[in-house]
Amino acid sequence: MIPYGKQEINQADIDAVLDVLKSAFLTQGPKVPVFEQKVAYHVGAKHALAVNSATSALHIACSALGLGPGDWLWTTPITFVASSNCGLYCGAKVDFVDIDPRTYNLCPKALEAKLQSAELENALPKVLVAVHLAGQPCDMEAIFKLSKRYNFHVIEDASHAIGGLYQNEFIGSGRYSDITVFSFHPVKIITTAEGGMALTNDDELASRMNLLRSHGITRDENLMTHEADGPWYYQQVELGYNYRMTELQAALGVSQMDRLDSFVARRHELAERYGELLKELPVTTPWQHPDSYSGLHLYVIRLRLDVINKTHRDVFEALRAQGIGVNLHYIPVHTQPYYQKMGFQPEAFPEAMQYYREAISLPMFHGLTDHEQDQVVLALREALGGTDQ
Ligand SMILES: *Cc1c(COP(=O)(O)O)cnc(C)c1O
Repeated sequence: MIPYGKQEINQADIDAVLDVLKSAFLTQGPKVPVFEQKVAYHVGAKHALAVNSATSALHIACSALGLGPGDWLWTTPITFVASSNCGLYCGAKVDFVDIDPRTYNLCPKALEAKLQSAELENALPKVLVAVHLAGQPCDMEAIFKLSKRYNFHVIEDASHAIGGLYQNEFIGSGRYSDITVFSFHPVKIITTAEGGMALTNDDELASRMNLLRSHGITRDENLMTHEADGPWYYQQVELGYNYRMTELQAALGVSQMDRLDSFVARRHELAERYGELLKELPVTTPWQHPDSYSGLHLYVIRLRLDVINKTHRDVFEALRAQGIGVNLHYIPVHTQPYYQKMGFQPEAFPEAMQYYREAISLPMFHGLTDHEQDQVVLALREALGGTDQ
């Protein structure tokens, strides 16, 4: 089976992890800050906080921004459930904004319309999670302007997007958001097995997220309610969690960061090649906004079902039967049973639903060979069968 995504581990990665195993610290040692500084420096952010997953990063990001009961978090329905679950963890209510049919990201026009009506109902969001689907950044400038006009915070869920650029700056620079989150799950662009990171330029937010990732405990006297009782002393000043990253993960992350640019460059080569190979087929290849250089975590095609004599499911199953590990990113979150109980109407977000009826993620990862890519395209050509054109 050719998977849709896969990590790349080399000898340097293995050596880096083994070195930690032989060292004094398996967790809470020197590697985590090294990894944080490396990522922060690379993307141009002031602070970076490594945690055990992007899900944890989203949770402490929402919490640090003060999201709580009675507040709203908005995001796109075309994302992994973690992008909206983080609002629920904080006791907030969640709602969605439909996608742009060209980028598949949250649509700023739909956002503006929804904000106008929410303002009348006194139900403006406190936090918007902008998800850079497949690695292509959202229209952050438009979202940022709306955030100033309607007074909400912006978190970039850049789980797909490390190494990408928006308006010639690395995603994570935080120019148009409060906090950016990366994921280092093995299918993502670089990996730490499990792992995530929250980046911000705001000292206060960084300090709060730092507390929240480790039980709300501090050893910094400036954050304590009174002077330390002695050198053993620490204080719990908030209710936090154990979301810490281990030294093993951080060492792997440091080593993987050395290859970030080449990982993303290879993804672009593969995307260009797909573009050529799929030109004659009845599929829509991913449109790339001129303002962006995508991290290209995913390569999503949409079937032109109007000219194909097969169903979406037929094509998907035929590809899987041929050993092509295609996938579908994502089932619209608001249609999940847990969200259905909140009363969302599936067709409330028609562009998202249309996308779901047509989308297929083709294999896209650094180690995919040209030969394997040719196999994918051949299998797709066969799966699509004859067309009406
Ligand atoms: C993978 C992913 C997450 C969650 O990442 P974890 O590190 O597995 O917690 C969140 N949001 C999006 C968009 C993702 O793709």
